[in-house]
Amino acid sequence: MPGRIQILPEEISQTIAAGEVVERPASVVKELMENAIDAGSSEIIVELKMGGLKLIRVYDNGEGIDPEDVPLALQRYATSKIKRAEDLYAIHTLGFRGEALPSIASVSKVTIKTRVPLSISGTKAICEGGEIKSISEIGCPIGTEVEVKNLFYNVPVKRKFLKSIRSELHYSLNHFLRLSLSHPSISFKFIHDGRILHEHPKTDSSLVRIEAILGREMTNQLQRCVLEDGEIRILGFTSLPSISKGSADGMYLYVNQRFVKDRMIYKAILESYRHVLPTGKFPIVILFLTLPPFAVDVNVHPTKAEVRFRDPERVFHAVIGVLRSVHDQTLPFTEGVVEKEIKSRISHLPFAQWEKGDVIPVVREAFAPEWQVGEKISYRILGQVQGTYILCEGEEGLIFIDQHAAHERILFHQYKNQYETKSIVSERFLIPIPMELSTEESFILDSHLEELKSMGFEIDPIGERLYALRSKPSLIDRKDPKEMVREILDELSILRRGGEAIETILVTLACHSAIRGNFVLRREEMEALVESLSPFHLSATCPHGRPIFFLLPRDELTRQFKRK
Ligand code: ADP
Ligand code: MG
Repeated sequence: MPGRIQILPEEISQTIAAGEVVERPASVVKELMENAIDAGSSEIIVELKMGGLKLIRVYDNGEGIDPEDVPLALQRYATSKIKRAEDLYAIHTLGFRGEALPSIASVSKVTIKTRVPLSISGTKAICEGGEIKSISEIGCPIGTEVEVKNLFYNVPVKRKFLKSIRSELHYSLNHFLRLSLSHPSISFKFIHDGRILHEHPKTDSSLVRIEAILGREMTNQLQRCVLEDGEIRILGFTSLPSISKGSADGMYLYVNQRFVKDRMIYKAILESYRHVLPTGKFPIVILFLTLPPFAVDVNVHPTKAEVRFRDPERVFHAVIGVLRSVHDQTLPFTEGVVEKEIKSRISHLPFAQWEKGDVIPVVREAFAPEWQVGEKISYRILGQVQGTYILCEGEEGLIFIDQHAAHERILFHQYKNQYETKSIVSERFLIPIPMELSTEESFILDSHLEELKSMGFEIDPIGERLYALRSKPSLIDRKDPKEMVREILDELSILRRGGEAIETILVTLACHSAIRGNFVLRREEMEALVESLSPFHLSATCPHGRPIFFLLPRDELTRQFKRK
């Protein structure tokens, strides 16, 4: 049947297009804030009523819009930020698609008041459902104020998808905080229903802004790191293993000051925290990546939340490198070859703004973190469960401790310490123990003889695939040291990368010397074990990444017994 396909009327196509950019009040907050930032403002105020459902107003003191440009700003694909297709690869602004204002205007009632610096008067435009109702001259301060009322008043379906005022406010605050975090040189204020919720005065230090947003307690647990690798520059603030989150929302990634969600970078972050945090735990990481605009494509997503790198692998390694450089201060031997190379290029950057990040900041306002930094555990041992877990009562509730994982972690630290301070004692056998190995085993052994020796295993090749084991580290109490060496070789064979052999040996030694599960412990043994655990945080893991602790919160018991 001919004539079935029709071009949609303008108003419908506009509403469809708007749906891509404007999902909820928070999207409006984000787009308006980005425009204000692009306008070179030094002060931005965001005001919401009823979580933005009733009103969203963003005020800035930026460059304003020329009177003749005001109607254009409200048209689709009208932008002052790019002129030619090539400009798409040289974007220095947050916006460039020319879609935001028209999309917002098509689903709400918008009033714009704006004035450019050299003009004595400003312009006011009123727009309803995408239609410009009036444009007039008015008196107003330099800069722009965009007011968005009754969002989705003409798209009832969209309104149905909105959540409570609280949730909508929360989404908007997220965008506000993300943008504030990456623009410390701009003052930001957030007002909701007449109350100031956030106020961040401008500063030249990233760290001051981070502290204003994440709070002092959290910021104190962050380490600063810097990398410059050709065209990639990274400034990072990354959490120590003592703190972590149960979700990825403590990870803030910025590419050229744009907040992005990038799976590859998330992966790099988690990879660099492997062996440091248990699975299921996420670090707090704020990463500012700076690349030349042509090295990153920002035009891949309607709300610009994703980017594409020209050389993703390089970025991946740079991120791992810069984060590992932090962890290596505590685990100096985990360094891989790639990281070593990158690390050698890590230098303190000449940027004034970055250097000033070191200044001890003054908190103006702290955003109460939802998570707590762990104290030493205080406890009372109740007993052993299933011969495998030690049950303690602590202030927070009941704490189960996996005895094997716990002991393994303690031994790993002890061994590591001894290795680092070169205080490993080896015990020589009166008669060397002969070992005959497989081709594969002997291949691995030959390439790790030095590391094994530094760990207290002295082994000499005495023939084809034949070795003499002369000593063992005295810290291990094993009846069959030959078996121990075999196990280490086995672990080393599955090493994916070079450079981590020592750690693998330490982990294997710790694992095999640690008490097992299904092993009854005497009270004094449990006490000794839990006592040596006290410097560890409740989120600590065994060197393989399994949890050591399980906390059954006090509230949970109360809840289960319906006492509240
Ligand atoms: P984009 O930001 O992608 O260019 P928008 O629809 O968000 O598209 O804005 C359209 C144009 O309106 C911008 O290119 C800019 O010239 C102008 N504009 C919007 N908001 C502001 C503002 N707060 N200050 C100055 N100019 C603005
Ligand atoms: Mg814009």
